[in-house]
Amino acid sequence: MVTHFKSSLFVQIFSTTAVVICVLFAIMYLLAVPYIQTTVEGIEKNGGHTILNGVYAMVEQTHLDIEDYRRSIILERKAQLRNIIAVVEARTKILEAQVRAGNLSKAQATSALLDELRHIKYGNNDYIWAANYSSVLISHPDPKLNGSNFSSKRDERGNLIVPPMVEGALKTGEGFHSYWWRRLGEQQPIEKLTYYKHILFFDLVIGTAVYMDDVEATVRLKKTAAVEELRHRLRTTHLAKSGYVYIFDGQKNMVIHPNSNIEGKDFSKQLNPSTQKPIGQELMAEADKQNGLRYRWDSPSDPGHYVYDKISWVRYSKGFDWYICTSVYVGELHESALILRNRVLAVFAITLLFSFLLIYLFVKKLTNPLRQLRDTALRVESGDFDARCDLNQADEIGVVATAFNGMVGRLQKNIRDLDAKVVERTAELQILNRKLEALSTTDGLTGIANRRRFDEVLASEWSRAARVGLPLALALLDVDWFKKYNDHYGHQAGDECLRSVAGVFASTICRTGDLVARYGGEEFVFIVPATDRDNALSMARKVCEALKALALPHEMSTFGCVTASIGVAAMVPGKTDMPDILVKAADGALYRAKNMGRNQAVLA
Ligand code: GH3
Ligand code: MG
Ligand code: MG
Repeated sequence: MVTHFKSSLFVQIFSTTAVVICVLFAIMYLLAVPYIQTTVEGIEKNGGHTILNGVYAMVEQTHLDIEDYRRSIILERKAQLRNIIAVVEARTKILEAQVRAGNLSKAQATSALLDELRHIKYGNNDYIWAANYSSVLISHPDPKLNGSNFSSKRDERGNLIVPPMVEGALKTGEGFHSYWWRRLGEQQPIEKLTYYKHILFFDLVIGTAVYMDDVEATVRLKKTAAVEELRHRLRTTHLAKSGYVYIFDGQKNMVIHPNSNIEGKDFSKQLNPSTQKPIGQELMAEADKQNGLRYRWDSPSDPGHYVYDKISWVRYSKGFDWYICTSVYVGELHESALILRNRVLAVFAITLLFSFLLIYLFVKKLTNPLRQLRDTALRVESGDFDARCDLNQADEIGVVATAFNGMVGRLQKNIRDLDAKVVERTAELQILNRKLEALSTTDGLTGIANRRRFDEVLASEWSRAARVGLPLALALLDVDWFKKYNDHYGHQAGDECLRSVAGVFASTICRTGDLVARYGGEEFVFIVPATDRDNALSMARKVCEALKALALPHEMSTFGCVTASIGVAAMVPGKTDMPDILVKAADGALYRAKNMGRNQAVLA
């Protein structure tokens, strides 16, 4: 990883792609998440409305069911009343037939009929009454009412009781009529449903009634069961996290509430902590409005602390006089949106990580061969021509690597060829140099060291002798009467003579470290290190003797052969002394040797 980040190409491609992806993700996030949040919040709110509408529909349906139930019971009751009156009517028909047959007078038959009617009892103290066309109850089981005139008597609600029935019977023959009446032996008036029928032959209206309280009791039971069923359903209905549904009636009694402690309780005194107005009143005012009531309330986890924003939507169900409310904590409306946003974020983050990983692998695959190529190029640059880029890929980079390897190969071959040529030339040059050096230090005529070589050796031997503190000896040799030799024998013979003298000289002074050289003209010199004056003198004398022994003829010399005079000097050089003092000393001695008759060696 670290090596890849060292590659600037890797960093450039990776960072550029990463930035582009981050920007894309940021744009996607900014476009998608706020939209999702508002949509989800809207869905949650709609959920509140949907639940409310559902519960409203359920309540309405329950109300309709109960009303149907009530109607069916009433129909049943009505059928029952009709049946009873039909039986009584059958009896009147029998009496009518007897009157028509002349077995009974009409008055007798009427009296018998009314008497019989007075004694009929059925059901729950139910009975049959008969009235004449003047609304006088001519037959009634209650002795207090029997014979009483009801033409102007009204029920508890101020409505006439009998006249409407007489009128209805005369008009349509039969009918139903409701009024409020006390049950036999009871004080409290109850709604009573009466079926009446015109008995034409006897000029009567008969009727029988049923008290509706048992109908209401049955309906109440049905309603209680329905409310219980509704309560059960609503307890399991949730809105967002802890939103719920509750119902209260027009008198602000809580009918259904998740908290069973407040069910059935009057909450009309409960105030909205923010407005200090009765909350029930405020809720009723919001009924069937879209926005609902916003208020602060306590939370189930923090009771009595009225700081949590809450919203309640209300619908009014007229049938039961119920206010149906869904209430939810506003914070919870955002919760699903937050969860969804976090999920989206998590998905984005995972995708981002995967993208980075893929980019990393891709860029690594791309830059790895380039890096290898770079490393190889750097090795070649630093002189390692054996370096090759080991890339076996068919793409452009592979082609570049192969071409690069070929170039380095050719470069290496060229350099090797060049090196070989340089070595060859250098060797030739060294040989030539050595020859040149030898030539530059050799005297052309005699083949011994020349004056230049003598100067070099004298300087180095002088400083060495000074360093080690040993004497250095030097002798100057001059061929005697050589001008005359030349003059007599010719210059070519003179040259030959000089070569012979040099040969004698070189073969006599021949220890390792000794040097013989041609000083100039017919003068020669030798340097012998670590040699004192006496030894140097005897060496010089050996030269004179060897020359004498060679006996080169020299007719113009007093000695008859070629001779030489030698001046010898030796000294331990002082630290500040220059070597020319040794040469001067030897030259002085040579001068004396000449003056002392030549053909001898003289010490300085
Ligand atoms: P002396 O005994 O006093 O040394 O007398 P001399 O004649 O040897 O000395 P002088 O200096 O007068 O003469 C030296 C001669 O050596 C003169 C010159 O022609 C000769 N000479 C110098 N170099 C060469 C050379 O290379 N070849 C030949 N043939 N002669 C040379
Ligand atoms: Mg001379
Ligand atoms: Mg001479």
